Amino acid sequence: MTIYYDNNFGEYEIESQEDIDFYFHNQKHSVMKKCSICGRKVKLLPNYDKCDSCCSILEHGGDPYA
Ligand SMILES: [Zn+2]
Repeated sequence: MTIYYDNNFGEYEIESQEDIDFYFHNQKHSVMKKCSICGRKVKLLPNYDKCDSCCSILEHGGDPYA
């Protein structure tokens, strides 16, 4: 299994061509943005404004603003 990574969803577990297509689709439509939490420049889909590392802190109940 291959792991791909981007700022939208973090790790992708690549198990089929469909997963690869999904990854490249997201890459193609992503733009450089400032994460609304950490302020880092990241490549995100237009409807996203938070990077994956901030989202995973939120998901685990942490405070990404700390
Ligand atoms: Zn962030």
